[in-house]
Amino acid sequence: MKRVSILGVPFIHTTMKDFIYLLQERIVQKEKTFIVTANPEIVMKANEDEDYMNIIRKANFVTADGIGVVKAAKLLNDPLPERVTGFDMMQELLKAADQHHHRVYLLGAEEAVLQGAMTKIVEEFPGVEIVGGHHGFFDWEQNDIASDIKRLEPDLVFVALGLPRQEQWIAQHFALFEKGIFIGVGGCFDVLAGKVERAPEFWQKANLEWFYRLMKQPTRLKRMLALPHFVFKVYGQKLKGKK
Ligand code: UDP
Repeated sequence: MKRVSILGVPFIHTTMKDFIYLLQERIVQKEKTFIVTANPEIVMKANEDEDYMNIIRKANFVTADGIGVVKAAKLLNDPLPERVTGFDMMQELLKAADQHHHRVYLLGAEEAVLQGAMTKIVEEFPGVEIVGGHHGFFDWEQNDIASDIKRLEPDLVFVALGLPRQEQWIAQHFALFEKGIFIGVGGCFDVLAGKVERAPEFWQKANLEWFYRLMKQPTRLKRMLALPHFVFKVYGQKLKGKK
């Protein structure tokens, strides 16, 4: 599959539809898969932290989570077809899981949020088999979560620990698992559980979801400052003509 390199992060060149199709194939073939949904903040973090960059490069697929990534690809004359965000991907995977009765495990968020997200999935996607879950505030040395996941053999494992912990956790335990699609989904359980609202469609269509989130959670401002830095560095890559 074609990849587009942005500041050293190899994004897959795909649409959501094609990617979900590919993942369904991988579930059938029991091909273990590690997916990173990367926004500009992740790209910047990877550029500052070599270990994190190495983890991201180990993933089977990195998708363009955020309009900033799509715009950067265009600027580099190597366009990506569309955003493939963590939240939308989770919805699409759950839709397919509903039809095919896939086994799902949820790792992350506060206990109440995790329970809320599970309840929502059961209501909305009754065909999904939730085989287990664990909140996201555990001791890093604790290995029983990974051994539980191995034993339960889920088809899909959603990991909502925020960056960079979700990618670090997946990378650290990946060798143990025999199958499963592992994907870091950031704050998605909070959205599912109704703790955090997703931007209304108008804001999403106008590519202003980031602005809506900033208004709702002004504490995100510091994190969002990664964005101008990202734009600056992408221009640097363009000038150098480097991939
Ligand atoms: N989280 C967690 N364990 C931690 C830190 C965070 O489970 O040690 C959860 C947090 O409760 C939230 C999610 O990770 O549900 C990600 O939060 P954030 O809003 O930072 O996500 P992002 O913006 O990175 O998608």
